[in-house]
Amino acid sequence: MIVCKFGGTSVADAAAIRRAAEIIRGRLDRGPVVVVSALAGTTSALLAAAEQAASGNLVAAIATVEASRDRHMTAVSELLGDDAAAQEIAADESVMFDELAHLMEALSVLGHVTDRSLDAISSMGEQLSAPVISAAFARAGIAAVLVDSREVMITDAQFGRAEPQPEAIAAACRERIVPLVRAGKVPVMAGYLGATMQGVTTTLGRGGSDYSASLIGAAVEAEAIEIWTDVDGMLTADPRIVENPKLIEHIRFDEAAELASFGAKVLHPNTIAPAVRLGIPVYVLNSLNAAGKGTKITFDAPRMPVRAIAGKGNTVIVKVRSARMLAAPGFLRAIFDVFERNRISVDVVTTSEVSVSVTLDDDKHLDTVVGQLREFGDVGVERGRAIVAVVGAGLGDSNSAMAKAMTAIGDVRLHMVSLSATGINLTLIIDGDELKPVMRRLHAAFFDTETA
Ligand code: ADP
Ligand code: ASP
Ligand code: MG
Repeated sequence: MIVCKFGGTSVADAAAIRRAAEIIRGRLDRGPVVVVSALAGTTSALLAAAEQAASGNLVAAIATVEASRDRHMTAVSELLGDDAAAQEIAADESVMFDELAHLMEALSVLGHVTDRSLDAISSMGEQLSAPVISAAFARAGIAAVLVDSREVMITDAQFGRAEPQPEAIAAACRERIVPLVRAGKVPVMAGYLGATMQGVTTTLGRGGSDYSASLIGAAVEAEAIEIWTDVDGMLTADPRIVENPKLIEHIRFDEAAELASFGAKVLHPNTIAPAVRLGIPVYVLNSLNAAGKGTKITFDAPRMPVRAIAGKGNTVIVKVRSARMLAAPGFLRAIFDVFERNRISVDVVTTSEVSVSVTLDDDKHLDTVVGQLREFGDVGVERGRAIVAVVGAGLGDSNSAMAKAMTAIGDVRLHMVSLSATGINLTLIIDGDELKPVMRRLHAAFFDTETA
């Protein structure tokens, strides 16, 4: 069995969905299980509509819903025509769009939106795309069967970023997915969403369809997980920032995980973990260039001092200064307990004799956290920072990589610096507006052969 996940641009319209069908047709002998995203841009549009509705702009919210309805109906008619089966799909889609419109009206009356209702709304993108894609595959002669992700992707009730329950997922896969594949069928399911044991819809966080694919891959003990996207694979830097980044043909799990968590959007940061446990290789491939090599992610790839550069903005630094307590046993535990209680994950940590500084991805719950940290000392908060990560399993083997990185960034102000003892990443915290130039300079220093 293999799991093939198609991201938003790989199912953006009828032409993309037809390409996806051909990719699956070429893999039928490997027992594919298909995980799909929403049509590109749908999730963001739905979330924006929810915000508009909750802030009183119902007209704009409904217009967004109707634009999405038109787009889905166009895809249905282009892919399926208008026979009885097509009309049935169109009618089901229409019911979901009516439901979305009702949800928008409810939000505009309430005037606010909860994480639970946001999940009900944002999960609609995949609930709408999966039936169309499954029917299109069937029309293309593939024995596709739509599987309801809410019956398979069992999670806890942390709306917006639900925690999957691997045992329940494995049991559901044994019951609902494996028998289909054994019978020569191709299960097609929505990524990104799941449900609690009680059946309440949840989501795995933005970009979460990669994570869905990886969780399903682990649950069915797949021989490979394929992430089909719109670039040739994992690249040496974000192509939207750096010109001409290079394809990474082979990368280690730990390197890929670092890149994902420091901003390489091509993989959701949690994608690697379920695959690592079973040693299942993950491939990142381009649905617009299906014959390309892509990137292979496994335990063993040749060690390189620097594999790639990643970066992300909107970083918040929280500093706790406490001359009397830092050396005291249990001090760091007490500080991190505050973050754990507030379910905030910390990215980078640095300490001095009298202070500890951490970086966070966003400022959700920040006021509560700062209030609780004040118990331990003076607390400072700095917003608008960015993190740049230079990632490579052999970073620690090389005498020159650090020096090269420091030379490349020049006199940019550094707020925090961290080199992991395992030698896998060098992280630099800089001002947000320096992010792009610093990434470009670092990339040029390590990857442009002319300047290296
Ligand atoms: P999908 O909809 O297929 O999940 P995403 O938009 O989530 O696609 O991720 C693919 C995008 O990630 C690429 O189009 C690219 O712009 C961006 N990206 C950022 N960093 C990297 C990187 N290091 N390698 C490849 N792509 C990257
Ligand atoms: N559609 C979801 C998003 O845009 C999940 C995904 O595409 O991975 O965040
Ligand atoms: Mg993605």
